[in-house]
Amino acid sequence: MKSHARVVVIGGGVVGVSTLYHLALKGWSDVVLLERSELTAGSTWHAAGLLPLFNMSYTVGQLHKYSVDLYKRLPEQTGQDVSFHVTGNLRLATCKARMDEYLKYCGTANTIGVPFRVIGPQEVRELWPLVDLGNGRDTPAITGALYHPDDGHIAPADLTMALRKGARARGAQIHEQTEVTAVARTASGEWRLTTNQGEITAEHVVCATGNYARQTGRMFGINVPSIPVEHQYIVYDESPELKAYRQAGGRELAVLRESDQSYYLREERMGWILGPYEAGAPARFADGVPDWFGKSLFEGDLERLLPHVEAAQRRVPALANCGIKDIVNGPIAYTPDGSPLIGPAWGHRNLWLNEGHSFGITAAGGSGWQLAEWIVEGEPGIDMMAVDPRRYGPYTSKRYVVAKNEETYRNVFVIHFPDEERADARPAKTSPIYDKLKRMGAVFGQRYGWERANWFAPPGVPAEDQWSFRRSNYFQHVGNEARRLREHVGMIDLTPFTKHEVTGPGAEAWLDGLVANKVPTKIGRIALCHALTSRGGIRSEFTITKVAEGHFYVVSAGAAERYDADYLQKQLPAQGVTLRNITTSRGCFVVAGPRSREVLAKLTDTPLDNAAFPWLTGQVAEVGLATDVYLLRVNFVGALGWELHFPIEYAHHLFDAIFAAGAEFGIGMAGMRAMESLRLEKSYRMWGTDLSPDYTPFEAGLDRFVRMNKGAFIGKEALERQLAAGVPHRFVTFEVHDVGDADPLGNEPLFDAAGRIVGRATAGYYGHALGKSLGLGYVKPEHAAVGGELQIEILGERRKATVLVDSPYDPENKDLRA
Ligand SMILES: Cc1cc2nc3c(=O)[nH]c(=O)nc-3n(C[C@H](O)[C@H](O)[C@H](O)COP(=O)(O)OP(=O)(O)OC[C@H]3O[C@@H](n4cnc5c(N)ncnc54)[C@H](O)[C@@H]3O)c2cc1C
Repeated sequence: MKSHARVVVIGGGVVGVSTLYHLALKGWSDVVLLERSELTAGSTWHAAGLLPLFNMSYTVGQLHKYSVDLYKRLPEQTGQDVSFHVTGNLRLATCKARMDEYLKYCGTANTIGVPFRVIGPQEVRELWPLVDLGNGRDTPAITGALYHPDDGHIAPADLTMALRKGARARGAQIHEQTEVTAVARTASGEWRLTTNQGEITAEHVVCATGNYARQTGRMFGINVPSIPVEHQYIVYDESPELKAYRQAGGRELAVLRESDQSYYLREERMGWILGPYEAGAPARFADGVPDWFGKSLFEGDLERLLPHVEAAQRRVPALANCGIKDIVNGPIAYTPDGSPLIGPAWGHRNLWLNEGHSFGITAAGGSGWQLAEWIVEGEPGIDMMAVDPRRYGPYTSKRYVVAKNEETYRNVFVIHFPDEERADARPAKTSPIYDKLKRMGAVFGQRYGWERANWFAPPGVPAEDQWSFRRSNYFQHVGNEARRLREHVGMIDLTPFTKHEVTGPGAEAWLDGLVANKVPTKIGRIALCHALTSRGGIRSEFTITKVAEGHFYVVSAGAAERYDADYLQKQLPAQGVTLRNITTSRGCFVVAGPRSREVLAKLTDTPLDNAAFPWLTGQVAEVGLATDVYLLRVNFVGALGWELHFPIEYAHHLFDAIFAAGAEFGIGMAGMRAMESLRLEKSYRMWGTDLSPDYTPFEAGLDRFVRMNKGAFIGKEALERQLAAGVPHRFVTFEVHDVGDADPLGNEPLFDAAGRIVGRATAGYYGHALGKSLGLGYVKPEHAAVGGELQIEILGERRKATVLVDSPYDPENKDLRA
């Protein structure tokens, strides 16, 4: 083993080897992979090899698509066959909500270019002659299906070997029986890895250790939120019916998924592999993989599988005629949201994760592709936020991860409603006024571990969601909350906001070099600022207030806490600037609406009139009994109003005081869904959905928040190039006409009059004050003119859409300046 490499990849499963291959492909040949046992010894050897393209996530969908395309090319590129059976993949539907899910997915598939067809029961039978279409009694009737002609299954070990061959041919080295046992930093800032075969130093380290992710993380001092769960499949003997069908010239059957019964079925040597996702599958190895486990498996648990076996036998009666050959029960890595952890580790430079893969055979190609891009180029090529390891925070305790992973596993096949909120490991993080909100009828959701009120059920209305792809039980109540903020006054609890304090003589200059806008120079001014990637894409959004000389208060999305904290920390200069994460020491209430000034005036002596307290300014004030309240005249709903950022210990007092003061004006709470409706009416772009590294601020229509003449900032050169070349997309707000009961939600394709895809929606909802179904999205510039016509596909139906002015509600911001 050499003593130094540019990159060391730890772990020789399909994911590690793919990372090595893609690094070598990008021209980094001084790369080494270390495997404690032999290649594929982890979960890779016993995987069923399915490559489902279906995924509701725009990011993961792109990774999977890349993999499937790559695996088709690999044999020719490497001379190693990978046994890719392109059988296609058939997902059955037996209820309307399931069909809605497929139709919603079709939008994502269309925007990424994944081929699919939505088919009816007869075509299901033509593709899959051994299927029983159901009678609606003991076997649910098939109402339709989603068919992917392009995917199928592969031999995971052959795939790994092909990637190995490709990596080696480009100079990469692989050492088996080499276990990394300790890590340290050298004086020059490189990594020194101790192994049972000696030491090696490296500039970068990639962890791709599958079920070992947590113990690998511990070596680096980080708590990786990945714990495996048991996953089983049954291998059947030969099936006489299948054999007869194949001998009569039938082609290999598509991989069959009966989502409503939570199992998949595929052919294997004239027999079958049946893989259920059962309830009750336990998390394993929460404290690490024991040394003895190696290539072992767990005991099969047929009891747990039986309900799915019986359902599968009803759907495919031929299954009942073959014996069970084997049950494979192995550990499968999971994360609380089921997506992998691909990208930089927090708190360390040049440490990268490619962990937590539950569909690792499918994702290996794409994850290696983007991680190599990130390491070599400094940025990934696509928006990776959905898989970025920093989307999790310190709240991922062992018990949290165990509970969530078991829940995610048993929910793999549930209908992925856009408003779904899962129940396990909750409540965990709560705002101090959680109980008060609950008594007021709050229906909570969870984001970044925080409980957030999505809406409030009025007295007599059950405080629960009926999840749907369409307008649902909470629609009118959300409407009332939104209209209250437009017409009277309402309050929103935004305590989860990420909050940083940046102080010191170098604070202003440092922040100014990080963001595209000019950081406020006058005390009390507030500026909306975007940190960009070196490619000019939007990395983060910060609301920056200058509190005092050398003192800035920096607020960003609640879900971005670790992501932003890590970025800021890694950019910090050696001296002159102090960065403090004060997220949990300050709460935040929004008090907004035409009567908000009158409400707050009863509680503070700070003058709130326009002359003394103009829009986009902030002051440190006393409110009620509370001191040191940052009163910021900004909000995300586009109404006259203030955000109160207060020392957390005043939460109860302020809540009670504001409600007492607001009673005569009809004050009430509003939740996240009302905020979504209100912000869409104002075309306020949301970080993480409308704003992402895929788009620059010029594409996002945020030109007024970019100061090209202010001096250097990260991403400026890329923006200069874009200014010269022109933007490839423009951000639009549009109204959808003649909607039935389904508004856009994001990830729907946008078409021109001739039916060509010209863009994608990033968000959508109903604007309750405007009374319009609204969407936000990006289109080719020639389709962005106000009044221009588009079409959008919502749940399989084409609707006419018209481009509106930016901020269709109150475009001149009269309410905000009132
Ligand atoms: C029963 C079952 C069926 C599955 N079916 C499918 C499927 O059909 N399709 C699909 O996409 N996915 C499937 N999966 C999931 C898939 O197996 C995994 O997602 C994938 O194999 C993960 O690959 P990996 O490289 O991340 O991890 P692994 O394959 O587990 O590799 C990690 C490697 O790291 C090594 N390692 C750990 N620590 C160290 C160290 N300190 N030093 C050196 N080496 C170390 C280990 O020895 C191991 O070889 C299935 C899983 C199971 C359990």
